[in-house]
Amino acid sequence: MFISNRIFDLQPEIAEWRRDFHQHPEICYEEVRTSKRVKELLESFGVDKIETGMGKTGVVAVIEGKENTSGRMIGLRADMDALPISEINEFEHKSTIDNRMHACGHDGHTSMLLGAAKYLVETRNFNGTAILIFQPAEEGGAGAKKMMEDGLFEKYNVDEVYGMHNMPGIPVGQFAMRVGGIMAAADFFDIEIEGLGGHAAMPHNTKDPIMVGSQIFNAIQTIISRQVDPIESGVISVTQFHAGDAYNVIPQTAKLCGTMRSLDEGVRELMAKRMDEVTENVGKAFDCKAKFIYRPNYPVTVNHKDQVDFAAKVAAEISGADKVDVDTAPLMGAEDFSFMLQKKPGAYIFVGNGDSAGLHHPAYDFNDEAIPVGVSYWAKLIEMAMPA
Ligand SMILES: [Zn+2]
Ligand SMILES: [Zn+2]
Repeated sequence: MFISNRIFDLQPEIAEWRRDFHQHPEICYEEVRTSKRVKELLESFGVDKIETGMGKTGVVAVIEGKENTSGRMIGLRADMDALPISEINEFEHKSTIDNRMHACGHDGHTSMLLGAAKYLVETRNFNGTAILIFQPAEEGGAGAKKMMEDGLFEKYNVDEVYGMHNMPGIPVGQFAMRVGGIMAAADFFDIEIEGLGGHAAMPHNTKDPIMVGSQIFNAIQTIISRQVDPIESGVISVTQFHAGDAYNVIPQTAKLCGTMRSLDEGVRELMAKRMDEVTENVGKAFDCKAKFIYRPNYPVTVNHKDQVDFAAKVAAEISGADKVDVDTAPLMGAEDFSFMLQKKPGAYIFVGNGDSAGLHHPAYDFNDEAIPVGVSYWAKLIEMAMPA
């Protein structure tokens, strides 16, 4: 591996920050202590500017290169939030808070970006500006979007933006990425059916919403099998069906709920459109009112080709090209970095966490051996994107 001695020397200190974050996990816009600690550390390194309170608890740091004749600006993003999980590990740095745990490694992501900040301030071996983005609430709270709504890219109009997530099962020192959809869109939906309730012995005097719900359930199964291109992928799962509460009453209403996932924005739109049309028209066919309520959550995380090619080059400088998988399989999980990639060209990549428990597992822990790899990736990315 080609990692600078300075970054190797910083590893124990960065691991200490990481373990401190791990002991004090905070979830979804509650990252007050974390955000304060991030700010203190950035101040101690001597970054050129710090902005706090963006997206409630988000932090942005600006580091100028030794020159800035290029006018280029590159954004690097880390997430800071934890999960409502009770940790089952018993090591010294285990979570001190019940039902709070850094089970997705965001403690590691935050610490690696801080490590990169320290290194970049010391060296400033680039021509341009590095923008370091520490965001809250990745786990369902759309913290990335919140920071953008607070003017992130208006204030810091980066040319490109990059994200990184650790991945259990990929050996430490290895990278994985792909062009196009790397993480899925994850949306929710409700289907509300209004029929006409009545006596179960006289169905002809009712409009049975349970029967209509069953027809809608069947009909929407054909959207994936008959309307989505078989080369593409999508999931529509009904996970709730609520109706009635008596043996001899046909209820007035029924409700179905569920989730839709896809790896392509076109498929995502098609699914939402057909769900709406099928629901409404099946309802009509049986003389009932059926309404599809779409609850879009995170879009597809779509990597841009030029930036993935560049990220692969950076990763290869650190680990060698044979340790960089540029065609990794996409995951059906979702990521709010997707919102940033809708606005700016960039790449979201995975860095190996070794043989650890899986993400969101109560025995998971970020692997501190991955720190020099992640920090080097950030540092090299800035130096290569904006060469001095
Ligand atoms: Zn997660
Ligand atoms: Zn995560």
